Amino acid sequence: MIKPVATVDVSPNLPPSLERLRELAYNLHWSWDHEAMALLRRLDRDLWEETEHNPVWQLGLIGQEALEAAAHDEAFMAHLDRVCSRFDAYMSNEARTWYRRQYGEFDQPYIAYFSMEYGLTECLRNYSGGLGVLSGDHLKSASDLGLPLVGIGLLYEEGYFHQYLNADGYQQQSYPINDYSNLPVQQVHNADGTPLIVEVPIAEVMAKVCVWKVQVGRVPLYLLDTNHTDNPDDVRDLTDRLYGGDKRTRIRQEILLGIGGMRLLEALNIRPMVCHMNEGHSAFLALERVRVMMQENPGLDFWEAADICAAGNLFTTHTPVPAGLERFGYDLIDEHFPYLWEALGLTREEFHDLGRENMGGFDLFSMPVLALKLCHATNAVSQLHGAVSRTMWQWVYPEVPEHEIPLGAITNGIHIESWLSGEMTGLYDRYLDPAWRDEPDNAAIWADVERIPDAELWRTHERRRERLVSLARRKLRAQLQARAATQAEIEGAREVLNPDALTIGFARRFATYKRATLILRDKERLARLVNDPDRPVQFIFAGKAHPHDHPGKELIKEIVKTAELPEFRHSMVFLENYDMSVARYMTQGVDVWLNTPRRPKEASGTSGMKVIYNGGLNASILDGWWAEAYDPSLGWAIGSGEEYDQEEWDLQDYIEAQALYNLLEDDLIPSFYTRGRDGLPRDWIGRVKSSVKKLAPFFNTYRMVREYTEEYYMPSHARFQALVQPDIARGKAFADWQNTVRAQWAKVAIVNVEVKPEQIKVNEDLNVQAWVNLGALKPEDVEVQVYYGPLDSRGQIVAGEALDMQYCGPDGNGRKNVHEFSTSLAYANTGRRGLSVRVLPHHEDLADPIHTGLITWANK
Ligand SMILES: *Cc1c(COP(=O)(O)O)cnc(C)c1O
Repeated sequence: MIKPVATVDVSPNLPPSLERLRELAYNLHWSWDHEAMALLRRLDRDLWEETEHNPVWQLGLIGQEALEAAAHDEAFMAHLDRVCSRFDAYMSNEARTWYRRQYGEFDQPYIAYFSMEYGLTECLRNYSGGLGVLSGDHLKSASDLGLPLVGIGLLYEEGYFHQYLNADGYQQQSYPINDYSNLPVQQVHNADGTPLIVEVPIAEVMAKVCVWKVQVGRVPLYLLDTNHTDNPDDVRDLTDRLYGGDKRTRIRQEILLGIGGMRLLEALNIRPMVCHMNEGHSAFLALERVRVMMQENPGLDFWEAADICAAGNLFTTHTPVPAGLERFGYDLIDEHFPYLWEALGLTREEFHDLGRENMGGFDLFSMPVLALKLCHATNAVSQLHGAVSRTMWQWVYPEVPEHEIPLGAITNGIHIESWLSGEMTGLYDRYLDPAWRDEPDNAAIWADVERIPDAELWRTHERRRERLVSLARRKLRAQLQARAATQAEIEGAREVLNPDALTIGFARRFATYKRATLILRDKERLARLVNDPDRPVQFIFAGKAHPHDHPGKELIKEIVKTAELPEFRHSMVFLENYDMSVARYMTQGVDVWLNTPRRPKEASGTSGMKVIYNGGLNASILDGWWAEAYDPSLGWAIGSGEEYDQEEWDLQDYIEAQALYNLLEDDLIPSFYTRGRDGLPRDWIGRVKSSVKKLAPFFNTYRMVREYTEEYYMPSHARFQALVQPDIARGKAFADWQNTVRAQWAKVAIVNVEVKPEQIKVNEDLNVQAWVNLGALKPEDVEVQVYYGPLDSRGQIVAGEALDMQYCGPDGNGRKNVHEFSTSLAYANTGRRGLSVRVLPHHEDLADPIHTGLITWANK
């Protein structure tokens, strides 16, 4: 190997009239503007494909003659003008965005969004799957809505792996190297032109970290990269691979993301009010935030600063599978954090406790536990996932009824324009109110899909199915060639699949709980379906297994082997290297999107949402988003939402596979193939229209990011701001109050409760009186509540309601520190009811008293 004496970045030499192409290429706005993509494709169709839709690289490769020719092509220049005016209109329209209209102007972004991965477009391979695609769509909608938000992540030198299969159908991985100078990323510099470097402590080393920026419409995304020549090799290599390396690499990547991310914002002069942790990977940011606050306000101790900072932290959890959580051994904590516990004024033991999770016999440091403790807002990503998460995390909130655990739910969505085919975009432009792009959560707009003539909707969808089939044939041919298949097999790829047949797609990560092979369980029955000459069905599969997930790889192999059998050869394909481009082709072209997770392990899922907007239908287990979206008029449910214990999984697979075949045979296939005299499947098209009408207004990131803004960003911002501005006096008072309440709480006790009368009729008043010993606390420091509801078979109150009691004054019998509270309530219907009384802390700056961990119940 030769070490260069100098490196240069060579950039394309564009004719002046094409200069704006450079600007367009570096703003990912093109990735959700079909006109812009058409322009880039028009520049050189082959290069566009070869560069995996990377305009920066394309401009670097394109010949000077081709550029000159484009500059002299009037039609091309007119197209460029059109794209530039759309882009300019988008960028200059800030004042009219939803956020600015609601909340006004801002100088600097103050919401910082942290994620380990971002799926923005296929050429930026900074994502592995759904989590990344969600982050990417979040940023795009934040841009559309005009949010004051910046994204923070890492830039990986090797993209997430490229998947190919060996002759045996077993997954192999290769890691393409990213050349940053040929990606839509730009290094961030200081005012003096030198590269911006952020310093981040990684064990003994002060790592020098470079910063790159990706412009996503109006929103900047900053990515950190440790490949700086001054760093020791193991630190330089830290950002080699997304989720690469061992646990030590992982904790270091998470230190970079959380602590490095906060230091980067400081270097950019951005003081976030709200820090959003998209999954627990970035939770160390909360500690850095506290450290800075303590440094700037010498009077504050750790818990005081943590209580204030928590008001501005939001944690979104993404996995209902306990094994999928990020946890570290204490050796790694001891290796990396002595400096930090010292700076935070904590002992090693206290620091350890911040993330402590008992694993049955030993403890680990758990990132979600750290996040739950240091964020006063937490949410799951679908309603069902919210319920599952509250059960899963109940141990963190002892004595709190499950439904009161402060963990909400905002259901995921997708960024519509990024996932919608050009053909469907055109159809919506013709028949819907133009506001479908700007306010897609408006149900009235989508109701107009009824105005799209059935024939036109069907033709548009059929065109996309044909394009999917031809992509599948092309890809299969290339796959077979690479695998050194016989000439006959390669030629055979031309004839797989039928552009007119009912096409079912299944593509996602090959985690075993997603049960990709459920449909293969009874191959004879399946063979009859796919070989029905009048009503054939065909399947397209895609997806990557994690490099260490051998059971996942076995599932891929089983699909590939099945697809090689004579009875399936024409009707089943596995497409290698699932990425955002393959995902678009599939979700835009399939008739049915199949999803068979083992409930309730799918937190949300988003791929099925992409299908809604493109006129396909969903057939899925009632899990994740589908559990709240399903309705018989607009798709299919496999089973009825049953959950099974692990010992019964085989039985469950049997039952649910049968349910799936029955549904295909009895409803889905007949609906698709029952055609009118005009050849149209009326029943099917009716379902498609229902699906768009009922689901399109909701399952998008426009609605999702608005909900994040209204339910979390703005309230957190207001609370945090009140605590720290104009100075930290109010925050300090709040923190002192919390300290006092914590110190005194052990003395709080409910001395006596009286309920009269013992028997009542419906709508009669029941009077409840309670005498509470508050120790040194004042009555206004607490909320005394009646908690009441129906009883379960073990005599416990289930899903009770809380009712505040009124303060009546000090105890009539003069008992010291005892105060009397009372209220009355009535029951609207008959039955056996239970009630209890409890005391919680109360303060106007407290988002939810449950976060204090203080709750005292009356005991009998
Ligand atoms: C949409 C998308 C996902 C998310 O898929 P789910 O299985 O529904 O969570 C994953 N990977 C890619 C490439 C996607 O485009």
